[in-house]
Amino acid sequence: MIKYKSTEEIELVRYSSLLVAKTLAEVARIIRPGITTLELDKTAEAFIRSHDAEPAFKGYRGFPFTLCVSVNAEVVHGMPGKYVLQEGDVVSVDCGVKKNDFYGDSAYTFAVGAIKPEVRQLLDVTKASLYKGIEMAEAGMRIGDIGAAVQEHAEKFGYGVVRELVGHGVGKSLHEDPEVPNYGKKGSGPKLQEGLVIAIEPMINLGKKNVRQGKDGWTIFAADGLPSAHFEHTIAVSKHGKADILTSFKEIEAVLKEQEIIN
Ligand code: MG
Ligand code: MG
Repeated sequence: MIKYKSTEEIELVRYSSLLVAKTLAEVARIIRPGITTLELDKTAEAFIRSHDAEPAFKGYRGFPFTLCVSVNAEVVHGMPGKYVLQEGDVVSVDCGVKKNDFYGDSAYTFAVGAIKPEVRQLLDVTKASLYKGIEMAEAGMRIGDIGAAVQEHAEKFGYGVVRELVGHGVGKSLHEDPEVPNYGKKGSGPKLQEGLVIAIEPMINLGKKNVRQGKDGWTIFAADGLPSAHFEHTIAVSKHGKADILTSFKEIEAVLKEQEIIN
């Protein structure tokens, strides 16, 4: 069952969502060759708790960390640990926050130092496909219009669109109805209405779409071992016109730009 949100409830999701954006900006500040993925996690957890909020993933179905950190061929749900990031890696960082009983959810794929041009393109196209999906998220459109837009853009570049994992409703639960696939048929699925709050989150593989689960029971890998990217926004469908993007990449990208100037 889809739970539509009031204006007040959307503001609470926005609060949590902006805290996620700021947490990912803190990650952006420290992500570099030589740092472990566990250090990213610790920084994120401390930042969230310093704002009297809770890391949404920690304890979710037994997941023991604040972030999902997925490196290179890891698609999503990677577990932070001893791995030391290296120049040329791409790192998908997924973060959720709970505050005032409402969740926010966002993900961003970072480049560690210089990356291959073909991988840079994968990141850029995955992010662009997210915005193609968001463009479709208007009242009167359908869930299938979002997925079709994401899929069409990613497949133009020959990329694999992951099927097994999908976006979702967000509210008092981290994962609510409806499911929001990154593929689909225009005009199919539930109709979008004002007050619908969803996370749209394309997971796009440089190679084939197939994935496999790792031995840790969490990490999802691209089956062919090629890099994968993941970008996610939590958005609210408006009464008229464009969706309201509740999370934000502005804070992250301001930090990335600053670092480019320094280096
Ligand atoms: Mg997420
Ligand atoms: Mg999500």
